Amino acid sequence: MRIRSGPLALVAVASVVLAALWLNSCSSGASARSGPVDADRAMGHARAMVAFGPRPSGSPALLRNRDYIRDQLKALGLPAHEQNWDHFFGHDKKKLRLHNVWTEIPGQDPTNGPILIVAAHYDTKLCSGHDKPTSNFEFVGAIDGAGGSAVLLELARVLKSRKSVPNVWLVWFDGEESRTFEWDTSHAQSLVGSRYFVETMQKDKTRFPKGMARRVGAMVLLDLIGSKNPKVDRDLASNSTLLGLFEKVATETLGRTRKQGWFSYESPIEDDHYFFKQNGIKVIDLIDFHYRVPKTPDNPNAPTHPDYQAWWHTADDNLAAMDPASLKVIGDLLWFAMPELEKQVFQVMK
Ligand SMILES: [Zn+2]
Repeated sequence: MRIRSGPLALVAVASVVLAALWLNSCSSGASARSGPVDADRAMGHARAMVAFGPRPSGSPALLRNRDYIRDQLKALGLPAHEQNWDHFFGHDKKKLRLHNVWTEIPGQDPTNGPILIVAAHYDTKLCSGHDKPTSNFEFVGAIDGAGGSAVLLELARVLKSRKSVPNVWLVWFDGEESRTFEWDTSHAQSLVGSRYFVETMQKDKTRFPKGMARRVGAMVLLDLIGSKNPKVDRDLASNSTLLGLFEKVATETLGRTRKQGWFSYESPIEDDHYFFKQNGIKVIDLIDFHYRVPKTPDNPNAPTHPDYQAWWHTADDNLAAMDPASLKVIGDLLWFAMPELEKQVFQVMK
């Protein structure tokens, strides 16, 4: 993913003010509740995925990760659907086989009822074979790849046991990361899996006779999940109602407030929710991006903060940078948001 417009420097000034507020009020809410998402189970999934090594699109390691997700879903008694297709990446003139995985947790009307989509990408950034030596390093994508995917698997377990009115689809996208080291704005080499998913479903007249936007009431994306000292940024490309809904749950139920950095840092993010939004679907990206970009010669204006480790697209994005509790808090956020989220999803049928 990337920031869609406005250099990082633009948000730096506001960030300093917010950081000061944050430091003044680090106490967590006394009322914080704990949901059913299990930190150790989620971390176990993340560890298993990271153990496959770097997992860029088309790699044998990503296939093993795909198999792992599929096996876990089957063990839960859930279907493991798959989309497989060839994509030509212009950058390295490669045609690669890509794989989206998804499952359905049925609601009251699996055939025609409304759908909530919760998704994450499971591919990791290609950090080898680039011209620039600094773009080549061991990148295992713990937070950027495994974290969101691991939370999705744990959500499969807990949501399965919940009486849900809408159908819940959980989707693991391939091909999110840009094949070029710098973000590819043309999307020939980035957001490839989510675009394929949307385009394919739009053509599926059995599932979506009137188009996806008439059945998919909301799409929630998890990205950059699992860091120590986690937060969720305020993605300006996300639906404002959904931002308000999730912020309310974070504050009132989980005791994670704006003063602590939650839903504080604003930037318009281009990520796997992009093509859903383009097709008229309400989207939100739960992403922890701000302050995670290290200051480098290529990115000298990146705002940094001593309380937030900057691991984005570096070798530091590894298991040591993760905290199981931060996987849990994002899963619990989704869990506690479900009652209000369902109401939003249901509006799609009106
Ligand atoms: Zn990334």
